Amino acid sequence: MRVSLISIGDELLNGATVDTNAAWLAERLSARGCAVVSHRTVGDDRPAIAAAVREAAVRADVLITTGGLGPTDDDLTREGVADAIGVGFHTDADAEAHLRAFFKRIGRKLTPTQLRQAMLPDGCEIIPNPWGTAPAFSARWRRSGGECRLFVLPGVPSEMRQVFEASVMPRLAGELGGRCTLARVVRCFGATEAYVGEQVSDLMARGRNPAVGVTAADAIIGVRINATADAPEAAAAMLEADVEVVRRRLGHYVFGEHDPWSTEIGRAHV
Ligand code: ATP
Repeated sequence: MRVSLISIGDELLNGATVDTNAAWLAERLSARGCAVVSHRTVGDDRPAIAAAVREAAVRADVLITTGGLGPTDDDLTREGVADAIGVGFHTDADAEAHLRAFFKRIGRKLTPTQLRQAMLPDGCEIIPNPWGTAPAFSARWRRSGGECRLFVLPGVPSEMRQVFEASVMPRLAGELGGRCTLARVVRCFGATEAYVGEQVSDLMARGRNPAVGVTAADAIIGVRINATADAPEAAAAMLEADVEVVRRRLGHYVFGEHDPWSTEIGRAHV
């Protein structure tokens, strides 16, 4: 399953907020064997949101957006998504009932501005968000060669995570079955990144499964191995086989495989 992510908000573009939503979603989806094929960040700009949704949806089976679902004039995700999929708006009765109940519970007056959050693109399915005011929603976009499912989630990280776990992952789980990706980093010290890369270059072929990559962080060179299979046992077997090959080829340069690596360095020097 190919998944694209779009993070929406001016504060992400200008650096005021670090985009933790995309990192968290990518990690959760990758662990379930999804191929996360793109991350994009766009500002609170209706045409830019619509263009980003259309472009990302062409390459993905599932597109997840976060942010821009609030009540103010600069929260334009609903409009951008509706433009992208070519539909209008309606006031969703369930979303309005949720807002009325939410504001009653917290003892605040529901203003017309707040009610904007009940305006949803036609044909979408509302996704409950008991953790905040902005309802999430899903929609389907038929494009040439198939269909892309859109999940439009709130930006507040704690809300986004809870909505994802409660309503998005369960919707995808049926198709993913037991599919999962298991990862390990074999850490080396004393060799250059180029040397380590040369020793495992055949394992690094693009499109290979397990996927193998080399990264340098300070003086530590890590060989990251990601094995994807339809069952955890199969992924574990593939992972262990590659770890064994990497260990053998890099010999005494290998000092550990488990987090936190600082503990391993301590151990290696005792
Ligand atoms: P709400 O209705 O609660 O305002 P929203 O969907 O409109 O939700 P935003 O207004 O875009 O969300 O953002 C709400 C808060 O969440 C802000 O503090 C924002 O900086 C933070 N936030 C939004 N997107 C991200 C992200 N990708 N990573 C980390 N924080 C984010």
